[in-house]
Amino acid sequence: MTKTVNELKSQLEYIKYSKEEEHKYSEGVSQLFDLATSYIFDAEKAYRNGKNAVWTAAIWEAPFIYASDFIPVSYTELGRLVSSDVVRIAENQFQLPAETCSMVKAALGEWHLRKGGINRILGTSGGCEPFNIALEILKGEGYDVHYIDTTYRSPRCSQGEYEELVKYLMNQIKTAVRWLMGSELDEQRLGAELRLRNQAMRKIRRIMELRLNAPLYIRSLPTMFMLMGSGHYFGKPEDYIDMLDTLLAELEKESRKTNTDRYVPLVWSGGRGQEFGVYKSIDDANGSILGWVIPTPYIRDYNEQLPPLESLARYFLDGQTAGSVGYQIKAVNEQVKKVNARGIIFYGYIGCSFSGIQRELLRDHFKKNGIPGITLEGSFQVGPPSGQLLTRVRAFTEMLA
Ligand code: SF4
Repeated sequence: MTKTVNELKSQLEYIKYSKEEEHKYSEGVSQLFDLATSYIFDAEKAYRNGKNAVWTAAIWEAPFIYASDFIPVSYTELGRLVSSDVVRIAENQFQLPAETCSMVKAALGEWHLRKGGINRILGTSGGCEPFNIALEILKGEGYDVHYIDTTYRSPRCSQGEYEELVKYLMNQIKTAVRWLMGSELDEQRLGAELRLRNQAMRKIRRIMELRLNAPLYIRSLPTMFMLMGSGHYFGKPEDYIDMLDTLLAELEKESRKTNTDRYVPLVWSGGRGQEFGVYKSIDDANGSILGWVIPTPYIRDYNEQLPPLESLARYFLDGQTAGSVGYQIKAVNEQVKKVNARGIIFYGYIGCSFSGIQRELLRDHFKKNGIPGITLEGSFQVGPPSGQLLTRVRAFTEMLA
């Protein structure tokens, strides 16, 4: 039975509807959503049964975490699946001001509720000040927090300075591994993890190419989950690769028979939105998000000719989009050209002043270059998106049709 965005209330309802109705023909999407919805709970269960696990962003760092025999548990997944009470906890119990970013409040509230479970958090200097303050508060809740200093690569960074950054980051990774394992990094194992991730990213790139010819076979929501999952495999690397193979086989067949004329190709830039009605509104208006500029990288391989630790450090620094809006412009531009985009969606979270400025600079740049964009701000915690957000994104997509 077809449902509209007004009839779906929580993130889990969207996932269920997407799996059982919109993609009932796809075994691959079914596998993907099963992985996504069981991820946090299975990782917590594995931890209770004696397996190592650590909370982390799971954007680029999973290879050295898996190589340390830990499950990387992505805190960005928390906002989707659990209690709607977390923002109230953050505001009342921890006295966070109401205007604090919803991602900070939701994460703090969730971790407070999960006290006594997985108790290690890998933070990063690349996190913003409000988020890192939340991590400091969590130390008082019994969490063991370690920060990895990922540095910023300035656009004017000389080759010599860049090489210093590579060495510095390599040392930071080694220190993080010592914090995790109490022993040294196993580079051979890290090499195997980088090869696995290269394998996954190549499959993803092929899927993204095939989507150009079958834009809504895998709609926006599962595409976002597939891309996010490449940063952590939902804690189950083999199952994740199997799921990609299933999707690939399905798309190889489907992409030969779809008429693409009626779709509006779009690029998504920014946070991986938690308000799933936004994705559905775009799809329902025949928009298709074919290019993604999100923190989880998938467009380049690790250099397997280099020693693994050096390869990981260079991969991170070469792909870093923080430190200058110029990096982001370049990344968005590549996707715009690749998918022949007619518009760009710049997405961020309510209360995030950092990305708010960046979004406006980006939108302005692309508008001057003839590509219209819309800036959206959504919330991080569970619950339906605002009607205004949905109306704006639908109108934007229809305008481009
Ligand atoms: S959305 Fe912005 S304010 Fe919120 S945690 Fe991320 S960077 Fe910080």
